[in-house]
Amino acid sequence: MDTIKGIKGVKDILPEETPRWRFIEDAARRWALCYGYQEIRIPIFELTALFARSIGAETDIVEKEMYTFPDRDGTSLTLRPEGTAGTVRAFIEHNRVADPLPQKYFYIGPMFRHERPQAGRLRQFHQFGAESFGTSDPRADIEIIALLWRLLSDLSLPELTLEINSLGSSGDRAAYKPILLKFLSQQKSLLCANCRRRMETNPLRVLDCKVADCRAATESAPRLTNHLSPEARTHFDHVLAGLTSIGIPYRLNPRLVRGLDYYCLTSFEITSTQLGAQNAVGAGGRYDGLVETLGGPSVPAVGFALGLERVSLMLPEASMPSSHQVLYYVASFGDHGTKLGLVLLDELRRVGISAHCDYRASTLKAHLRQADRSRCRYAILLGDDEATRGSVILRNLESKAQEELPLAGLSSLLKSRTTSS
Ligand code: ATP
Ligand code: MG
Repeated sequence: MDTIKGIKGVKDILPEETPRWRFIEDAARRWALCYGYQEIRIPIFELTALFARSIGAETDIVEKEMYTFPDRDGTSLTLRPEGTAGTVRAFIEHNRVADPLPQKYFYIGPMFRHERPQAGRLRQFHQFGAESFGTSDPRADIEIIALLWRLLSDLSLPELTLEINSLGSSGDRAAYKPILLKFLSQQKSLLCANCRRRMETNPLRVLDCKVADCRAATESAPRLTNHLSPEARTHFDHVLAGLTSIGIPYRLNPRLVRGLDYYCLTSFEITSTQLGAQNAVGAGGRYDGLVETLGGPSVPAVGFALGLERVSLMLPEASMPSSHQVLYYVASFGDHGTKLGLVLLDELRRVGISAHCDYRASTLKAHLRQADRSRCRYAILLGDDEATRGSVILRNLESKAQEELPLAGLSSLLKSRTTSS
Protein backbone atom coordinates (compact mmCIF):
# COMPACT_ATOMS: atom_id res chain seq x y z
CA MET A 1 0.00 0.00 0.00
CA ASP A 2 1.17 3.58 -0.63
CA THR A 3 2.46 5.37 2.42
CA ILE A 4 0.97 8.76 3.24
CA LYS A 5 3.60 11.49 3.38
CA GLY A 6 3.70 14.80 5.23
CA ILE A 7 2.88 18.01 3.36
CA LYS A 8 5.53 19.82 1.30
CA GLY A 9 7.20 22.56 3.37
CA VAL A 10 5.74 21.19 6.62
CA LYS A 11 8.40 19.51 8.70
CA ASP A 12 8.47 17.05 11.56
CA ILE A 13 10.68 18.04 14.45
CA LEU A 14 12.14 14.70 15.52
CA PRO A 15 13.29 13.77 19.04
CA GLU A 16 16.95 14.47 18.17
CA GLU A 17 15.99 18.07 17.38
CA THR A 18 13.51 18.84 20.13
CA PRO A 19 16.16 19.54 22.82
CA ARG A 20 17.45 22.28 20.52
CA TRP A 21 13.96 23.69 20.11
CA ARG A 22 13.25 23.54 23.84
CA PHE A 23 16.53 25.29 24.50
CA ILE A 24 15.64 28.14 22.10
CA GLU A 25 12.07 28.43 23.36
CA ASP A 26 13.19 28.38 27.01
CA ALA A 27 15.67 31.18 26.31
CA ALA A 28 12.98 33.20 24.50
CA ARG A 29 10.55 32.78 27.42
CA ARG A 30 13.20 33.64 29.99
CA TRP A 31 14.26 36.83 28.21
CA ALA A 32 10.68 37.92 27.50
CA LEU A 33 9.67 37.46 31.15
CA CYS A 34 12.80 39.29 32.25
CA TYR A 35 11.74 42.30 30.16
CA GLY A 36 8.24 42.18 31.66
CA TYR A 37 6.40 40.52 28.75
CA GLN A 38 3.66 37.99 29.52
CA GLU A 39 2.78 34.98 27.45
CA ILE A 40 -0.40 35.01 25.37
CA ARG A 41 -1.68 31.98 23.45
CA ILE A 42 -3.82 32.96 20.52
CA PRO A 43 -5.64 30.60 18.14
CA ILE A 44 -4.03 29.15 15.07
CA PHE A 45 -6.95 30.16 12.84
CA GLU A 46 -8.96 33.35 12.66
CA LEU A 47 -11.44 35.08 10.36
CA THR A 48 -9.71 35.89 7.07
CA ALA A 49 -10.88 39.50 7.39
CA LEU A 50 -8.59 39.97 10.41
CA PHE A 51 -5.44 39.37 8.36
CA ALA A 52 -6.69 41.11 5.22
CA ARG A 53 -7.48 44.24 7.21
CA SER A 54 -4.34 44.33 9.38
CA ILE A 55 -1.53 43.01 7.18
CA GLY A 56 -2.94 44.82 4.16
CA ALA A 57 -4.59 43.56 0.97
CA GLU A 58 -1.64 44.59 -1.23
CA THR A 59 0.99 42.57 0.61
CA ASP A 60 2.66 39.32 -0.47
CA ILE A 61 1.24 37.57 2.58
CA VAL A 62 -2.39 38.42 1.88
CA GLU A 63 -2.13 38.31 -1.91
CA LYS A 64 -0.55 34.90 -2.26
CA GLU A 65 0.69 33.29 0.93
CA MET A 66 -2.32 32.65 3.16
CA TYR A 67 -3.97 29.30 3.77
CA THR A 68 -7.58 30.34 3.45
CA PHE A 69 -10.55 27.98 3.46
CA PRO A 70 -14.32 28.17 3.96
CA ASP A 71 -15.72 26.90 7.25
CA ARG A 72 -18.71 24.53 6.95
CA ASP A 73 -21.08 27.50 6.97
CA GLY A 74 -19.06 29.28 4.32
CA THR A 75 -17.27 31.77 6.62
CA SER A 76 -13.78 32.43 5.31
CA LEU A 77 -11.07 31.32 7.76
CA THR A 78 -7.29 31.56 7.55
CA LEU A 79 -4.40 29.77 9.27
CA ARG A 80 -2.47 32.55 10.96
CA PRO A 81 0.47 33.78 8.84
CA GLU A 82 1.81 35.86 11.77
CA GLY A 83 0.97 36.61 15.39
CA THR A 84 0.49 40.36 15.69
CA ALA A 85 -3.02 40.47 14.19
CA GLY A 86 -4.35 37.82 16.57
CA THR A 87 -2.68 39.43 19.58
CA VAL A 88 -4.22 42.81 18.75
CA ARG A 89 -7.62 41.20 18.14
CA ALA A 90 -7.45 39.51 21.57
CA PHE A 91 -6.29 42.76 23.19
CA ILE A 92 -9.35 44.56 21.80
CA GLU A 93 -11.83 41.70 22.25
CA HIS A 94 -11.03 41.25 25.95
CA ASN A 95 -11.12 44.98 26.52
CA ARG A 96 -7.60 44.90 27.90
CA VAL A 97 -7.36 48.57 27.09
CA ALA A 98 -9.49 49.22 30.20
CA ASP A 99 -6.61 47.74 32.27
CA PRO A 100 -3.57 49.85 33.06
CA LEU A 101 -1.22 50.40 30.16
CA PRO A 102 1.44 49.63 29.10
CA GLN A 103 0.80 45.95 28.49
CA LYS A 104 3.38 43.65 27.05
CA TYR A 105 2.75 40.25 25.50
CA PHE A 106 4.78 37.51 23.87
CA TYR A 107 3.85 34.37 21.96
CA ILE A 108 5.56 31.30 20.57
CA GLY A 109 4.00 29.03 18.00
CA PRO A 110 3.49 27.88 14.43
CA MET A 111 2.60 30.20 11.54
CA PHE A 112 1.50 29.22 8.03
CA ARG A 113 2.39 30.72 4.67
CA HIS A 114 2.18 29.19 1.24
CA GLU A 115 5.69 29.91 -0.05
CA ARG A 116 8.27 28.02 -2.06
CA PRO A 117 9.95 25.81 0.56
CA GLN A 118 13.74 26.02 0.90
CA ALA A 119 16.29 26.13 3.73
CA GLY A 120 14.90 28.53 6.34
CA ARG A 121 11.60 28.95 4.49
CA LEU A 122 8.75 26.59 5.26
CA ARG A 123 5.00 26.52 4.94
CA GLN A 124 4.55 25.78 8.61
CA PHE A 125 7.22 27.62 10.56
CA HIS A 126 7.54 28.96 14.09
CA GLN A 127 7.84 32.41 15.51
CA PHE A 128 8.59 33.96 18.85
CA GLY A 129 7.06 37.42 18.90
CA ALA A 130 6.66 40.25 21.39
CA GLU A 131 4.25 43.18 21.38
CA SER A 132 4.28 46.24 23.62
CA PHE A 133 1.04 48.25 23.81
CA GLY A 134 0.45 51.73 25.12
CA THR A 135 3.79 53.54 24.85
CA SER A 136 4.77 55.89 22.07
CA ASP A 137 8.01 56.78 23.86
CA PRO A 138 11.07 55.76 21.79
CA ARG A 139 12.32 53.85 24.83
CA ALA A 140 9.64 51.24 24.11
CA ASP A 141 11.17 50.78 20.64
CA ILE A 142 14.61 50.48 22.22
CA GLU A 143 13.31 47.95 24.74
CA ILE A 144 11.77 45.72 22.09
CA ILE A 145 14.92 45.80 19.96
CA ALA A 146 17.06 45.14 23.05
CA LEU A 147 14.94 42.11 24.00
CA LEU A 148 15.48 40.60 20.55
CA TRP A 149 19.16 41.51 20.41
CA ARG A 150 19.98 40.23 23.90
CA LEU A 151 18.20 36.95 23.24
CA LEU A 152 20.06 36.35 19.98
CA SER A 153 23.36 37.33 21.58
CA ASP A 154 22.67 35.00 24.51
CA LEU A 155 22.20 32.18 22.01
CA SER A 156 25.57 33.17 20.46
CA LEU A 157 24.14 33.48 16.97
CA PRO A 158 26.96 34.51 14.64
CA GLU A 159 27.37 37.60 12.46
CA LEU A 160 24.26 39.50 13.42
CA THR A 161 23.44 42.94 12.08
CA LEU A 162 20.62 45.15 13.26
CA GLU A 163 19.31 47.14 10.31
CA ILE A 164 17.02 50.02 11.09
CA ASN A 165 14.96 52.60 9.27
CA SER A 166 12.12 55.01 9.96
CA LEU A 167 8.94 54.79 7.90
CA GLY A 168 7.72 58.11 9.27
CA SER A 169 4.09 58.86 10.04
CA SER A 170 1.33 58.01 7.56
CA GLY A 171 1.36 61.71 6.60
CA ASP A 172 5.11 61.52 5.91
CA ARG A 173 4.59 58.48 3.71
CA ALA A 174 1.71 60.13 1.86
CA ALA A 175 3.90 63.16 1.13
CA TYR A 176 6.83 60.97 0.08
CA LYS A 177 4.86 58.67 -2.24
CA PRO A 178 4.55 61.13 -5.17
CA ILE A 179 8.26 61.97 -4.84
CA LEU A 180 9.13 58.27 -4.97
CA LEU A 181 6.66 57.62 -7.79
CA LYS A 182 8.17 60.38 -9.90
CA PHE A 183 11.57 58.70 -9.52
CA LEU A 184 10.17 55.22 -10.16
CA SER A 185 8.36 56.23 -13.33
CA GLN A 186 11.71 57.35 -14.79
CA GLN A 187 13.12 53.89 -13.98
CA LYS A 188 10.02 51.94 -14.90
CA SER A 189 11.55 50.08 -17.87
CA LEU A 190 14.27 48.67 -15.56
CA LEU A 191 11.86 47.29 -12.96
CA CYS A 192 10.48 43.76 -12.76
CA ALA A 193 6.81 43.13 -13.61
CA ASN A 194 6.01 42.73 -9.93
CA CYS A 195 7.49 46.12 -9.08
CA ARG A 196 5.70 47.80 -11.96
CA ARG A 197 2.50 46.48 -10.49
CA ARG A 198 3.58 47.55 -6.99
CA MET A 199 4.06 51.09 -8.30
CA GLU A 200 0.28 51.25 -8.60
CA THR A 201 -0.56 49.48 -5.36
CA ASN A 202 2.24 49.96 -2.83
CA PRO A 203 5.21 51.90 -4.29
CA LEU A 204 7.28 51.72 -1.08
CA ARG A 205 7.51 47.96 -1.50
CA VAL A 206 9.52 48.49 -4.69
CA LEU A 207 12.43 49.58 -2.48
CA ASP A 208 12.32 46.19 -0.76
CA CYS A 209 12.37 44.09 -3.97
CA LYS A 210 15.04 41.38 -3.92
CA VAL A 211 15.55 41.34 -7.73
CA ALA A 212 19.08 42.62 -8.47
CA ASP A 213 18.02 44.83 -11.41
CA CYS A 214 15.33 46.49 -9.29
CA ARG A 215 17.82 47.08 -6.52
CA ALA A 216 20.25 48.70 -8.93
CA ALA A 217 17.50 50.81 -10.50
CA THR A 218 16.37 52.14 -7.12
CA GLU A 219 19.86 52.64 -5.64
CA SER A 220 19.60 56.41 -5.90
CA ALA A 221 15.90 56.67 -5.09
CA PRO A 222 14.94 59.58 -2.83
CA ARG A 223 15.02 58.47 0.80
CA LEU A 224 12.02 58.52 3.05
CA THR A 225 14.30 59.42 5.96
CA ASN A 226 15.03 62.71 4.19
CA HIS A 227 11.33 63.50 4.19
CA LEU A 228 10.41 62.84 7.83
CA SER A 229 8.33 65.29 9.82
CA PRO A 230 10.19 66.87 12.77
CA GLU A 231 8.31 64.57 15.22
CA ALA A 232 9.21 61.43 13.30
CA ARG A 233 12.81 62.60 12.94
CA THR A 234 13.09 63.25 16.68
CA HIS A 235 11.57 59.86 17.49
CA PHE A 236 14.05 58.12 15.21
CA ASP A 237 17.01 60.07 16.60
CA HIS A 238 16.01 59.10 20.14
CA VAL A 239 15.79 55.43 19.19
CA LEU A 240 19.24 55.53 17.58
CA ALA A 241 20.81 57.43 20.49
CA GLY A 242 19.24 54.99 22.98
CA LEU A 243 20.59 51.97 21.12
CA THR A 244 24.04 53.51 21.18
CA SER A 245 23.79 54.23 24.90
CA ILE A 246 23.11 50.57 25.68
CA GLY A 247 25.76 49.35 23.29
CA ILE A 248 23.60 47.83 20.55
CA PRO A 249 25.23 48.46 17.16
CA TYR A 250 23.00 49.19 14.15
CA ARG A 251 23.25 49.90 10.45
CA LEU A 252 20.93 52.44 8.86
CA ASN A 253 19.11 50.89 5.93
CA PRO A 254 16.97 53.48 4.13
CA ARG A 255 15.48 50.75 1.90
CA LEU A 256 14.11 48.71 4.76
CA VAL A 257 10.38 48.54 4.16
CA ARG A 258 8.53 45.80 5.95
CA GLY A 259 6.19 43.57 4.00
CA LEU A 260 3.23 44.32 6.27
CA ASP A 261 1.21 47.48 5.90
CA TYR A 262 0.71 48.30 9.55
CA TYR A 263 4.19 49.57 10.32
CA CYS A 264 5.11 53.23 10.95
CA LEU A 265 8.15 55.06 12.36
CA THR A 266 10.77 52.57 13.59
CA SER A 267 11.24 49.56 11.37
CA PHE A 268 14.03 47.03 11.88
CA GLU A 269 15.38 43.67 10.89
CA ILE A 270 18.13 41.48 12.30
CA THR A 271 20.04 39.69 9.58
CA SER A 272 22.95 37.30 9.48
CA THR A 273 25.30 36.66 6.57
CA GLN A 274 25.23 33.00 7.68
CA LEU A 275 21.70 32.58 6.39
CA GLY A 276 22.36 33.19 2.69
CA ALA A 277 19.32 34.32 0.74
CA GLN A 278 16.90 34.01 3.66
CA ASN A 279 19.00 36.39 5.69
CA ALA A 280 16.45 37.86 8.09
CA VAL A 281 16.20 36.14 11.47
CA GLY A 282 13.76 38.54 13.01
CA ALA A 283 12.01 41.77 12.20
CA GLY A 284 9.61 44.27 13.62
CA GLY A 285 8.66 47.84 14.15
CA ARG A 286 6.14 50.29 15.42
CA TYR A 287 2.48 49.94 14.46
CA ASP A 288 0.66 52.80 16.16
CA GLY A 289 -2.41 52.65 13.89
CA LEU A 290 -3.19 48.95 14.05
CA VAL A 291 -5.33 48.74 17.18
CA GLU A 292 -7.57 51.43 15.73
CA THR A 293 -7.62 49.79 12.29
CA LEU A 294 -8.97 46.66 13.96
CA GLY A 295 -11.75 48.56 15.69
CA GLY A 296 -10.12 49.41 19.02
CA PRO A 297 -9.13 52.78 20.47
CA SER A 298 -5.96 54.55 19.45
CA VAL A 299 -3.13 52.70 21.24
CA PRO A 300 0.49 53.01 20.14
CA ALA A 301 2.39 49.73 19.85
CA VAL A 302 5.69 48.23 18.84
CA GLY A 303 6.76 44.61 18.35
CA PHE A 304 8.83 42.02 16.55
CA ALA A 305 8.69 38.45 15.30
CA LEU A 306 11.62 36.06 15.24
CA GLY A 307 11.81 33.04 12.92
CA LEU A 308 12.76 30.05 15.05
CA GLU A 309 13.75 27.74 12.15
CA ARG A 310 16.37 30.30 11.19
CA VAL A 311 17.55 30.58 14.80
CA SER A 312 17.83 26.81 14.95
CA LEU A 313 19.85 26.72 11.69
CA MET A 314 22.31 29.20 13.15
CA LEU A 315 22.55 28.00 16.73
CA PRO A 316 26.12 26.86 17.40
CA GLU A 317 26.28 23.33 18.82
CA ALA A 318 28.51 24.67 21.59
CA SER A 319 25.78 26.90 23.04
CA MET A 320 23.69 23.81 23.79
CA PRO A 321 24.20 22.24 27.19
CA SER A 322 25.06 18.55 26.82
CA SER A 323 22.73 16.33 28.72
CA HIS A 324 21.96 12.68 29.18
CA GLN A 325 18.33 12.25 28.33
CA VAL A 326 17.86 9.58 30.96
CA LEU A 327 20.24 9.18 33.87
CA TYR A 328 19.71 5.62 35.16
CA TYR A 329 19.11 2.31 33.46
CA VAL A 330 17.56 -0.19 35.85
CA ALA A 331 18.90 -3.65 34.93
CA SER A 332 16.84 -6.05 36.96
CA PHE A 333 16.81 -9.77 36.28
CA GLY A 334 15.92 -13.04 37.93
CA ASP A 335 12.50 -13.57 39.54
CA HIS A 336 13.10 -11.62 42.70
CA GLY A 337 15.32 -8.97 41.14
CA THR A 338 12.77 -8.22 38.39
CA LYS A 339 9.99 -7.69 40.93
CA LEU A 340 12.11 -5.31 43.03
CA GLY A 341 13.30 -3.58 39.83
CA LEU A 342 9.74 -2.62 38.92
CA VAL A 343 9.30 -0.96 42.32
CA LEU A 344 12.69 0.76 42.14
CA LEU A 345 11.97 2.24 38.69
CA ASP A 346 8.73 3.69 39.98
CA GLU A 347 10.40 5.11 43.12
CA LEU A 348 13.17 6.77 41.11
CA ARG A 349 10.70 8.43 38.76
CA ARG A 350 8.50 9.57 41.62
CA VAL A 351 11.37 11.50 43.19
CA GLY A 352 12.09 13.05 39.79
CA ILE A 353 15.07 10.97 38.70
CA SER A 354 14.89 9.96 35.04
CA ALA A 355 15.09 6.18 34.72
CA HIS A 356 14.59 3.68 31.94
CA CYS A 357 14.50 -0.08 31.40
CA ASP A 358 14.10 -2.29 28.35
CA TYR A 359 11.50 -4.80 29.53
CA ARG A 360 12.44 -7.22 26.78
CA ALA A 361 15.85 -7.91 28.37
CA SER A 362 15.94 -10.69 30.96
CA THR A 363 19.66 -11.34 31.42
CA LEU A 364 22.41 -9.09 32.76
CA LYS A 365 24.21 -9.23 29.40
CA ALA A 366 21.15 -8.15 27.43
CA HIS A 367 20.45 -5.36 29.91
CA LEU A 368 24.01 -4.00 29.71
CA ARG A 369 23.82 -3.91 25.92
CA GLN A 370 20.55 -1.97 26.08
CA ALA A 371 21.94 0.30 28.80
CA ASP A 372 24.84 1.29 26.52
CA ARG A 373 22.47 1.95 23.65
CA SER A 374 20.19 4.03 25.83
CA ARG A 375 23.05 6.51 26.49
CA CYS A 376 22.18 6.54 30.22
CA ARG A 377 25.01 7.55 32.51
CA TYR A 378 24.53 4.78 35.08
CA ALA A 379 23.11 1.31 35.27
CA ILE A 380 21.62 -0.08 38.46
CA LEU A 381 22.19 -3.84 38.54
CA LEU A 382 19.63 -5.75 40.54
CA GLY A 383 19.66 -9.56 40.20
CA ASP A 384 18.48 -12.24 42.62
CA ASP A 385 21.83 -12.15 44.51
CA GLU A 386 21.56 -8.40 45.13
CA ALA A 387 17.90 -8.80 46.00
CA THR A 388 18.81 -11.35 48.68
CA ARG A 389 21.50 -9.04 50.09
CA GLY A 390 19.09 -6.06 49.97
CA SER A 391 21.46 -4.07 47.79
CA VAL A 392 22.19 -3.02 44.21
CA ILE A 393 25.33 -2.46 42.13
CA LEU A 394 25.62 1.05 40.74
CA ARG A 395 27.69 0.98 37.57
CA ASN A 396 29.06 4.06 35.82
CA LEU A 397 28.57 3.20 32.17
CA GLU A 398 31.43 5.39 31.01
CA SER A 399 34.16 4.56 33.52
CA LYS A 400 32.73 1.11 34.38
CA ALA A 401 33.40 1.87 38.08
CA GLN A 402 30.99 0.00 40.36
CA GLU A 403 29.83 0.40 43.95
CA GLU A 404 27.38 -1.54 46.06
CA LEU A 405 24.58 0.49 47.66
CA PRO A 406 21.67 -0.49 49.94
CA LEU A 407 18.37 -0.91 48.13
CA ALA A 408 16.38 0.61 50.99
CA GLY A 409 16.34 4.38 50.61
CA LEU A 410 18.18 4.18 47.26
CA SER A 411 16.01 6.71 45.46
CA SER A 412 16.53 9.39 48.10
CA LEU A 413 20.26 8.67 48.22
CA LEU A 414 20.54 9.07 44.43
CA LYS A 415 18.33 12.14 44.54
CA SER A 416 20.65 13.80 47.06
CA ARG A 417 23.62 12.95 44.84
CA THR A 418 22.04 14.47 41.69
CA THR A 419 21.04 17.68 43.44
CA SER A 420 24.47 18.12 45.04
CA SER A 421 26.49 17.36 41.87
P1 ATP B 1 11.19 37.21 4.43
O1 ATP B 1 11.69 38.50 3.87
O2 ATP B 1 12.29 36.25 4.79
O3 ATP B 1 10.09 36.61 3.62
P2 ATP B 1 9.17 38.37 6.08
O4 ATP B 1 9.38 39.81 5.94
O5 ATP B 1 8.10 37.73 5.30
O6 ATP B 1 10.55 37.58 5.83
P3 ATP B 1 8.14 38.51 8.74
O7 ATP B 1 6.74 38.40 8.33
O8 ATP B 1 8.63 39.81 9.23
O9 ATP B 1 9.06 37.95 7.58
O10 ATP B 1 8.47 37.37 9.81
C1 ATP B 1 9.51 37.52 10.77
C2 ATP B 1 10.48 36.37 10.69
O11 ATP B 1 9.80 35.13 10.54
C3 ATP B 1 11.40 36.42 9.47
O12 ATP B 1 12.49 37.24 9.72
C4 ATP B 1 11.82 34.97 9.35
O13 ATP B 1 12.87 34.65 10.25
C5 ATP B 1 10.59 34.24 9.78
N1 ATP B 1 9.85 33.75 8.62
C6 ATP B 1 8.99 34.43 7.82
N2 ATP B 1 8.48 33.62 6.87
C7 ATP B 1 9.03 32.39 7.08
C8 ATP B 1 8.90 31.12 6.44
N3 ATP B 1 8.09 30.93 5.41
N4 ATP B 1 9.62 30.07 6.93
C9 ATP B 1 10.44 30.24 7.99
N5 ATP B 1 10.61 31.41 8.63
C10 ATP B 1 9.91 32.47 8.18
MG1 MG C 1 8.04 36.74 3.45
